[in-house]
Amino acid sequence: MKISKIEHLGIAVQKIEDVLPYFEGVLGLKCYKTEVVEDQKVKTAFLQVGEVKIELLEPTSPDSTVQKFLDNGGRGVHHVAFKVEDGVSEALAFCDEKGIRLIDKAPRNGADKLHIAFLHPKSTCGILTELCEE
Ligand code: ZN
Repeated sequence: MKISKIEHLGIAVQKIEDVLPYFEGVLGLKCYKTEVVEDQKVKTAFLQVGEVKIELLEPTSPDSTVQKFLDNGGRGVHHVAFKVEDGVSEALAFCDEKGIRLIDKAPRNGADKLHIAFLHPKSTCGILTELCEE
């Protein structure tokens, strides 16, 4: 598996509009896009920081995994997304071979035109890990 960079950091928030004054007004970043991802039950907002993006995640339903994360006391960084150069399918097969627990057995469509798949935090030092490609 070849990882070229951190593509984005996913940050769980209860309400995107409540945190934008910090990200935009204090950090001086610019939200360039918001997008609802129906199958993940989240609204996302993207801000660019150099080569890396910040993906704010707001749950759109009580049974969203992001809502569960927040309800369980989770705050802030929710996942780290790595860009893989050799394809998400190949990376998943490699991780599977290494005994890593997969949340997604196959790539699916994520926000911001990415193909994504998640690895289970139980296998990744507690860090929910997303693999992605454009
Ligand atoms: Zn993500």
